[in-house]
Amino acid sequence: MLIDTHCHLTSPPLASRVDDVLDAARRAGVTQFIVPGVDPDDWPAIAALARRHAPSVRGAFGIHPMAADRANPETLALLADYGREACAIGEIGLDYTLPDVPRELQQAAFRAQIRVAVETGLPVILHCRKAFRDLLAILDEEGVARVRGVMHAFSGSPEVATACLRLGLFISVAGSVTYPTAVRPVAVVRQVPLDRLLLETDSPDMTPEPLRGRPNEPAFLRETARRVAEIKGISADAVARATTDNARRLFRLSPFPDNTNNSEVPHVPAPLLPH
Ligand SMILES: [Zn+2]
Repeated sequence: MLIDTHCHLTSPPLASRVDDVLDAARRAGVTQFIVPGVDPDDWPAIAALARRHAPSVRGAFGIHPMAADRANPETLALLADYGREACAIGEIGLDYTLPDVPRELQQAAFRAQIRVAVETGLPVILHCRKAFRDLLAILDEEGVARVRGVMHAFSGSPEVATACLRLGLFISVAGSVTYPTAVRPVAVVRQVPLDRLLLETDSPDMTPEPLRGRPNEPAFLRETARRVAEIKGISADAVARATTDNARRLFRLSPFPDNTNNSEVPHVPAPLLPH
């Protein structure tokens, strides 16, 4: 059993055939799905999908750095409202490869949303490209350790991964780890302890090998799990068990397997507020 911790099921081309996409995923052993927001305009569709497919689909709500200009007192208040039905705030972060969004604007939107996460006690789903130094500094200053979070589709070096682990973050592995040219993602998977890894498709992007060329979808998560198992030298089942348990812990997904004693899991500070 696998959990796709990052799939854009309300985006084209998945949105128009989402029931088939979910069926195919379940047949492939992917049974829970987290759908992150990128813009306030997405939030109603994500909330509707999560309600229709509860509890296997859960929504996260956030403003991606590319939409940083949408962060204002009104949308931030709305974000806190959506937090009541969210498993996380995200995806939020910094992306310095975006030529048209000033860094100061991104940083302000990012900080404001971390504050919503801390107030609501929700973990954060983080997007970061070419901005790790600033991102980690802001996370530290805003006290992300109180809510924790995940570096989604992690693209940094093993050194940056270590810094993320120190802040209590999880590292999420996407299809790029299956590419023959992957060097950094492989080194990161080798290094990060199994109890801090998550899996995601980031579908419809980042289709794993050997399925590249088609739009990605949650059913393809198996390929990424298989590659992680190969890199770690363990069984695909062991990867599935560990990453599923990690996702349930971080996002407080139900149900916990009967044999899991949540209080035994290390490094999990109590949330600031229940939700
Ligand atoms: Zn995404």
